[in-house]
Amino acid sequence: MNTIYFDHAATTRVLPEAAQAAVEVMTESYGNPSSLYHLGTQAAKRVAQDRALVAQALGCKADEVYFTSCGTEGDNWAISLAVHLGRHKGKHIITTAVEHAAVLEPCKALELQGYEVTYLHPDATGHIPIEALEEALRPDTVLVSMMLVNNETGILQPVAEAARLLKRKKSAALLHTDAVQGFLKVPFTPKGLGVDLLTISGHKIGAMKGSGALYIRSGLRALPLLRGGGQEKGLRSGTEATPQIAALAAAAQLGRQGLEEHIAYLTSLKAYALETFQRVVPALTVVSAGEAPHICAISLPGYPSQVVVRYLSDKGFCLSSGSACHRGKASHVYAAMNLSKAVRDGMLRVSFGPSNTREEVDRLAQALLAATQELVSVGH
Ligand code: PLP
Repeated sequence: MNTIYFDHAATTRVLPEAAQAAVEVMTESYGNPSSLYHLGTQAAKRVAQDRALVAQALGCKADEVYFTSCGTEGDNWAISLAVHLGRHKGKHIITTAVEHAAVLEPCKALELQGYEVTYLHPDATGHIPIEALEEALRPDTVLVSMMLVNNETGILQPVAEAARLLKRKKSAALLHTDAVQGFLKVPFTPKGLGVDLLTISGHKIGAMKGSGALYIRSGLRALPLLRGGGQEKGLRSGTEATPQIAALAAAAQLGRQGLEEHIAYLTSLKAYALETFQRVVPALTVVSAGEAPHICAISLPGYPSQVVVRYLSDKGFCLSSGSACHRGKASHVYAAMNLSKAVRDGMLRVSFGPSNTREEVDRLAQALLAATQELVSVGH
């Protein structure tokens, strides 16, 4: 059976160039970057080059890039760093109700430690109104964490507007954005957005799982995440994961080089998909077309998404009933959008990558139609 993969927001296949870079580092330049002999200095040089490549793709300085093991680590680190730096200023955090669990869970943990967290709610379209942030902002707010692209809807949140608002209000709060779904999908630079902290993850861009980076604006005094041998300028000790870093850098470099073409291809493929789905499948509702080029959310009201996902899987299609991280739990994002229960229960996330074709879209549309004909509707 042919696999047709429409779940690029969950993870991506490793690019051959990224895999090759990792293999090269594992088998040739395998030294410990801290070792003083040539194999070590070669490895250190390679990490420095890779950091420069990731910085170039992000549009920031190399010394603002700190390698991490995943997006979750970057989000957790950014939040703990911000509350540490703001500890004498206050205990109020603002985030959104539609963040990834990698932001929501550390915020919940901080609530148990006496922090107050305001969760901004999206409007019916999934967008966070900037006025809601203005209303929530207080003199004791130490952190605003707002994602760039939502992983379940593809919606772009107003991060740059949030930065401008903080500046206008002369707020001392730090601004963090989870750009895991935005990196190499929408053009941005951390400086252009006006953020202090920004998270990316390798496995969403064709690099290996277990890789990521946190941008920490230069000039920001940072809190060590891991203490030990002093790697990553003393902020994240632990021998550098050179193969993961090499793969991340290779994928970032390729992504940066082909960005405009990549965005144009995905934008046109998604537009074609949404038009085709609606034409071919009468029962289908488009819940979010999303501004990001690679994600959209659709629903088959009356057909529970987990049943549909399994039905489609039997036919070779991989797509999500929401975020893969939820493992079937009801989505807090769709709940926050005030969708009807029938629409929520029938939600499917389709996320595209460069390997997807119009022909695959046509086949998915036919399979969705067949699902509505063969599966029993639970009624709504
Ligand atoms: N943030 C967002 C928006 C995500 O979509 C994900 C992964 O799905 C993460 C954070 C977590 O990234 P990682 O899987 O690298 O920990």
